[in-house]
Amino acid sequence: MKCPFCSGKDNKVVDSRVSKDSTVIRRRRQCLDCGQRFTTYERVEALETYVIKKDGSREVFDRNKIKSGMLKALHKRPVPVTEVDEFLDALESSFQEQGLREIAVSKLGEAVMEKLRQLDGVAYVRFASVYREFRDVREFMDELEEVLAARKESSG
Ligand SMILES: [Zn+2]
Repeated sequence: MKCPFCSGKDNKVVDSRVSKDSTVIRRRRQCLDCGQRFTTYERVEALETYVIKKDGSREVFDRNKIKSGMLKALHKRPVPVTEVDEFLDALESSFQEQGLREIAVSKLGEAVMEKLRQLDGVAYVRFASVYREFRDVREFMDELEEVLAARKESSG
């Protein structure tokens, strides 16, 4: 955080206060170069991630939608629901750690496919027919072939 007086980059926090509704933290900082004080505000950012579809349109990432797709694929398979929840928890926290605000539907599909492949081969194959983001199975297969071709290339 640059000092507004001398553009120095080193400063120390001399006071922190949380707003009444706890959504903003106000910090008084003192520049270590020139000694002037200035104020910064820290807010929680809305952490929605958007899914970019093939036609370029976007929609808010919907955990429940992904979950229900995965659970359909896993129907009557010997995989506990907690596995799916843990995967989605990890996926969502990876969005937030990377500050990822947008993800291509193909990338999202690939992450889900990869997880299903680890969990259960039958569910992995079934996923083709329940994954609504793909217009039809043909499109899914094209996508899958691309993914597999890319893997083959990258592994030599
Ligand atoms: Zn300064």
